[in-house]
Amino acid sequence: MKIVFFGSPGSGKGTQAAEMAKGYSLTHISTGELFRAKVLDGTRIGRRIGDTIAAGSLVDDITANYVLFKAIEGLNRFLVDGYPRNIAQAKMFDLHLENMGTELTCALFLDVPIEVAEQRLILRRTKRQDKVENYRRADDAPTVIHHRFEVYRKQTEPLIQYYSDRIIRVNGTGSPAEVTRKIAKALREWE
Ligand code: ADP
Repeated sequence: MKIVFFGSPGSGKGTQAAEMAKGYSLTHISTGELFRAKVLDGTRIGRRIGDTIAAGSLVDDITANYVLFKAIEGLNRFLVDGYPRNIAQAKMFDLHLENMGTELTCALFLDVPIEVAEQRLILRRTKRQDKVENYRRADDAPTVIHHRFEVYRKQTEPLIQYYSDRIIRVNGTGSPAEVTRKIAKALREWE
């Protein structure tokens, strides 16, 4: 089982991807997490990635593809969360898998209205401020949130069309537990 999981910022894909990975025994790969880890290593490339993330822009495709392809090396069952982010990455990924003699099982799209997702991110920022100040993500600043949604609309949303032959679309509104149930049901019906 090889799944890509995508949705807007604030769609809850990180939370749901972790649940799904557990439920289906898949290795969960989050490119966002991989990049945030790279930022911490203090190298020149790490700093460049850090600046890009803080600005709410996308890390360049060559770096993203490299990091992802390395992360899935030797894995038969995985769930990729946060990749691909645009059509170029999606095409490269298809080609890469084809070269490995395999293909994606499906693309799961977590569908949340932009206004709902944006509200969630603003709320998350406030909650984090209450708890641990330095846990706040730099890319959760209001102006950056706006830019992340713009990038999402322009670059990531076209994936819905690209994956139209293998997409599973799940409504991501409701409580996390409700959404988890909806995803499980959609996958059962699809299989
Ligand atoms: P969110 O979906 O809430 O933006 P992620 O953790 O998936 O959170 O991603 C955080 C940031 O990491 C993105 O805004 C982007 O800068 C970078 N990133 C993650 N995945 C990719 C990717 N596949 N290509 C380019 N940049 C990426």
